[in-house]
Amino acid sequence: MSFGNKEFDHPESRDHMTDLKGRIALVTGASQGIGRAVALELARAGATVALAARNEAKLAEAVAEIEAAGGQAAAFTLDVASEESIKAAAKAVIERFGKVEILVNNAGITRDTLALRMKRDDWESVLSTNLTGAFLLTQALLSPMLRNRWGRIINITSVVGRTGQAGQANYAASKAGLIGLTRSLARELASRSITVNAVAPGYIETAMTAVLDEKVREAMIAQIPLGRAGTDAEIAHAVAFLASENAAYITGHVLDVNGGMLMS
Ligand code: NDP
Repeated sequence: MSFGNKEFDHPESRDHMTDLKGRIALVTGASQGIGRAVALELARAGATVALAARNEAKLAEAVAEIEAAGGQAAAFTLDVASEESIKAAAKAVIERFGKVEILVNNAGITRDTLALRMKRDDWESVLSTNLTGAFLLTQALLSPMLRNRWGRIINITSVVGRTGQAGQANYAASKAGLIGLTRSLARELASRSITVNAVAPGYIETAMTAVLDEKVREAMIAQIPLGRAGTDAEIAHAVAFLASENAAYITGHVLDVNGGMLMS
C-alpha cells in the first residue's frame, strides 16, 4: 500500500508504532493495575521487561503471563520509597540485562485526607513514593542510558497533577512534581536521544480507584465526555507509543489519557 508520502511508505514505518524488539524496559509498580498492563503491552511489542514492585507473588504471576505468551520478562523486588532498595534493584536489573532503555515510573500511592488533617507522614509517604522514588530510580539508571545514547523515560502522572483535587494535596503535589521533573529531564537529556514524557491518566478502573464509593464514581464519570472510566490497557497503549520509534520527536510532553475529562 502506498500513501504517496515517503515517511509513511518507509518499509518499516508501519511496524514502528509498537515495535520494541530487542529493547530493555523497566516498569515500576508492575505487580497490578496500570503498571502490570504496561509491562504486558511493552512485552507484547517485543521488549524484554523488568517488572518491579514490592509484591513478589504478583510480580511472578505477571512474569509467567508474559512468558506464556512468548515474551521475555523478569521480576525484581523494589520499594521505591527506599533509596537502598532503588539502588539494589537498579544494580540487579543492569547486572541481568546490561542496560535499561525504557524506564516507566508508574509506582504510586494515595493517602487522601483534607490538608487541615493531613499528617506529615501522609505527605512524606506519598511524595517519597510517587516523586522522590521516580527521581532516584531515574538517576540510578541514567549513566548507562546516557552511554547507550538512546532512551525513553515515561512518568505516570495524573489529571489531578494539573487540576488539583480536594483531599489530595499530597498526591496532586507529587503528580505536579512529576511533570516538572519530566520537563527538566527532557531538556537535560535531549542531546543524547533520550526523550522524557509523562502520561496523565484520568479516571481508570484499578485497585486504586476501586475504593471510591458509587456516588463519587458516578460524579467522576459525569465529568468525562466519553462517558466511561478508562482501562489500564488504554494507558498502556499510550506508554507503548511514547516508548516507540514513532514518538522519537516528542519530548517534555504530558499526554492526557482521560476521555476528555480535562482538555489542556
Ligand atoms: P494500583 O494501586 O492498582 O497499583 C499501584 C502499583 O504501585 C502497584 O503495583 C504497587 O505494587 C506499586 N507500588 C506502590 N507503592 C510502591 C512502592 N513503595 N514501591 C514499589 N511499588 C509500589 O494503582 P494504579 O494501577 O491505578 O496506578 C498506577 C499509577 O497510575 C500510579 O502512579 C497512579 O497514581 C497513577 N494513576 C492512576 C489513576 C487511576 O485512575 N487508577 C489515575 C491517574 C494516575 P506493590 O504494592 O506490589 O509494591
